[in-house]
Amino acid sequence: MRGNGKVRPETVGKILIVAMIALFACGAGTALAATGGAPTPSGSPPPPGSGSGAPSTAPSAGTLTLVAAETKPHKSFYFGYRYPKLNFTIGSPQPLNDIRIDVVTATGEIVRTFYRDDLAPNLPYTIRWDGTTAEGMPARNGKYSFRISPQIPAPAARKATASTTFSLGFTLYGYTFPILGAHDYGGSAGRFGASRSGHTHQGQDVMAACGLPLVAARGGRVQYSRYDGNAGNYIVIDGKGTPNDFAYMHLAEPSPLKEGETVRTGQPIGIVGDTGDAQGCHLHFEIWSAPGWYEGGSPFDPLPELMKWDKYS
Ligand SMILES: [Zn+2]
Repeated sequence: MRGNGKVRPETVGKILIVAMIALFACGAGTALAATGGAPTPSGSPPPPGSGSGAPSTAPSAGTLTLVAAETKPHKSFYFGYRYPKLNFTIGSPQPLNDIRIDVVTATGEIVRTFYRDDLAPNLPYTIRWDGTTAEGMPARNGKYSFRISPQIPAPAARKATASTTFSLGFTLYGYTFPILGAHDYGGSAGRFGASRSGHTHQGQDVMAACGLPLVAARGGRVQYSRYDGNAGNYIVIDGKGTPNDFAYMHLAEPSPLKEGETVRTGQPIGIVGDTGDAQGCHLHFEIWSAPGWYEGGSPFDPLPELMKWDKYS
């Protein structure tokens, strides 16, 4: 809502192109940096992202410049530790300005919009995007940017300023690779569907040294955190925003996470081991379709997913 006494020019000011910054390159950060570097499980859900706000009923903005803008981190994970965050400061001859901040895909599709009314120039503002679309669904993997522009009411005005926006790029992923350290996918015996006595292998074995940290490929809710003679120490996570369950087996120690706890994408869930019926240190990893792990779903080959996550994690 607008305050009284606001200076309202007759026409919406033309926006100056000050910056078009594309920071699409993925940093060569370490795996720990990629997951936010959280040293211990937090057991708490991520704080909520910024609210969407509502468009002004009578949008107005002065001639905008971008005094400062920064997007951090450049790589984020859905339901993870650090949401994509935009810090920005506008310049304007007008004391109050109605701004919109769009989250835009690489092809220009707007997946989420934040409306901020009556922003003052030369003050810092922050937007934190929780990775959900306007419909509340997890956004797809990919490159995005924050786009800062005025709220323009008239189609003619919108057309005139269509290219005068400020973009700040980042990447959002739905999953991270679950092992923090060197690993390989072993031989055919470790593949999904490989023959076992009396059954077939329901997951993919990922060979890695005992003691390497394991993190949640996708956060959510801890469904099981137990010991079993075959699985050893294992944990099953009901993935937030997905119909799937994710199982991690043969952990060297019981997971520090308890059943029912919230776990974030990238949160430590234990360490690689060889407990239970395991030959050599490795992670046995399963993905189950809805409704989930031993509750009516079916396991499917997780290797294509693992290899995809491996590439960018
Ligand atoms: Zn296995």
